[in-house]
Amino acid sequence: MVHIVGAGPGDPDLITVKGQRLLSEADVVIYAGSLVNEDILKFCKPEAEIYNSAQMMFEEILHVMALAEKAGKTTVRLHTGDPSIYGATQEQMDAMRERGIEFDVTPGVSSFLAAAAALKQEYTVPGITQTVIITRRGGRTPVPDTESLKKLAQHQTTLCIFLSVNLLDDIKRDLMSAGFKSSTPVAVVYKASWPGEEKIIKGRLDTIVQQVKEAKIDRTAMIIIGHCLSSTNRQQSKLYSPTFSHMFRQARF
Ligand code: SAH
Repeated sequence: MVHIVGAGPGDPDLITVKGQRLLSEADVVIYAGSLVNEDILKFCKPEAEIYNSAQMMFEEILHVMALAEKAGKTTVRLHTGDPSIYGATQEQMDAMRERGIEFDVTPGVSSFLAAAAALKQEYTVPGITQTVIITRRGGRTPVPDTESLKKLAQHQTTLCIFLSVNLLDDIKRDLMSAGFKSSTPVAVVYKASWPGEEKIIKGRLDTIVQQVKEAKIDRTAMIIIGHCLSSTNRQQSKLYSPTFSHMFRQARF
């Protein structure tokens, strides 16, 4: 059995209870070493075979899993954040299905959520936006035309942009040509939740490129753009409002 597990964003304590249990029981662990915080491997059994997939090709990863299956061993395939987001997990799941390898998936805390926690920020602020878009800027990996930043920006939602901090200049240009004001608030969170390594940069569309350059951030960072980050025009949520009834509470006025 192969368990695909979300390791969480960096702080080893942010793996789920179930993920930690699976990791502690695994005979074989293959972790995505380019991003997973290796401190999380402290949860593994001392005798577990541990592989870093950053140094492996697709076929090698499958080979290790298939051998473990044959030997009746349990494998954990450990991905950063949540495996469903930019995890390159679909191709692995398809290949396992094809080869008859049984697997399941345990979700994890994605880095865009750890970034909100670091910022102490809600992404869906009443009166401002009720939508979050998760995306990346097309670069070496293309993004379909229908999802260009220019098009997505027209919705003026909260944008969480992965894998793109090295393309911040292009992002700024795209968003400004889509009508975003130069004063639009932007935050960049580097290594959200990593003990002792997290950095938070807050700025505006017209200042952020310089700020991020000065902070020497060029990878492992989440870009958050949108008016949820500004403190004006917020409305109170209806959830706790005295004039709003719901299943668990009657309105008082
Ligand atoms: N599956 C992962 C994303 C993998 S893609 C998840 O759910 O988070 C890798 C990108 O995720 C990085 O380029 C960066 O944009 C973002 N990322 C991963 N860990 C991060 C962290 N701790 N802080 C900020 N961004 C992070």
